[in-house]
Amino acid sequence: IEKEAPVAVATAAPASTVKVSNRDRVIFPEGKLTKGQLADYYELVAPLMLPWAGSRPVSLVRCPQGRAKKCFFQKHDAGSFGDDVKHIGIREKDGHDEAYLFVDTPAGLLTCVQMGTIEFHGWGARIEDVEKADRLVFDLDPDEGLGFKDVVSAAFHVRDLLAQMGLTTFPMVTGGKGVHVIAPLTPSAEWPQVKDFAHRFAQALEQAEPDRYTAALSKARRTGRIFVDYLRNQRGATAVMPYSARNREFAPIAVPLTWDELHDLDAPSHWHIGDGGEMLKRASSKNLAHWGRADQVLPDL
Ligand code: ATP
Ligand code: MN
Ligand code: MN
Repeated sequence: IEKEAPVAVATAAPASTVKVSNRDRVIFPEGKLTKGQLADYYELVAPLMLPWAGSRPVSLVRCPQGRAKKCFFQKHDAGSFGDDVKHIGIREKDGHDEAYLFVDTPAGLLTCVQMGTIEFHGWGARIEDVEKADRLVFDLDPDEGLGFKDVVSAAFHVRDLLAQMGLTTFPMVTGGKGVHVIAPLTPSAEWPQVKDFAHRFAQALEQAEPDRYTAALSKARRTGRIFVDYLRNQRGATAVMPYSARNREFAPIAVPLTWDELHDLDAPSHWHIGDGGEMLKRASSKNLAHWGRADQVLPDL
């Protein structure tokens, strides 16, 4: 019996045409998690990932020899991905077009995994018009000393302030230490306006509660505070995609949550690449079905 057959049957994932080689290669030394397990995870969650990640330029965190070895962040096509990983030309500052990647099929995701990808990061705009943001994201980065409950209460604070401005938001644990608070936008505002809004929002938080928040980049200013990383909201900046695996110990994943779930969560990372089946079940629940969907535009600030 071929090694790969039982896994495909057990997960009942749609048969992919992408051949994933070296399935036994250990990608996560902690827990001895393999490339095959990572591929099976992505095959399972592809239907959950693609509605959000599939319509935007993506960057990849690739660790071809596993996460203990050299990893790199890849924005552009190296020409070796084949037809399942698609290209979009995006104008660079110097005026020339550069080929960025997008992946809108399970086969595309699997090709990336075959090429050593662990993480998928995406622009805040769709390929139809990369100049117009389709989301705001407030990336809440806690300083070392803070507990997860501090991050959770900050996320609720951000939610409430944005709600006062008419924006519906959705939380996601990143699989790392923090939380992203995401406001979907109907594409309309362009990047300078979006960045300005996010920057001023972060500054207002800092001014209101300087002991709790900082909008400053300097590490010194972050001590004991939550850095409100507004810089995910500029042209070309990326954020980790929902359901992406992370290049961290034991292969955690980024998980979209309801606000009620975030309220009850006591640690930033409960889930890992073994939890694809649970992700499928969760996603079909009533409360998560509308995650990331809202018809709204950037308000004035
Ligand atoms: P955490 O909750 O632990 O903060 P995170 O996903 O918010 O997790 P990072 O993994 O530190 O944080 O990534 C920060 C951001 O910078 C991500 O949104 C990612 O898209 C981007 N990024 C990461 N590496 C690079 C890189 N080499 N070049 C450009 N952007 C990067
Ligand atoms: Mn973060
Ligand atoms: Mn950050």
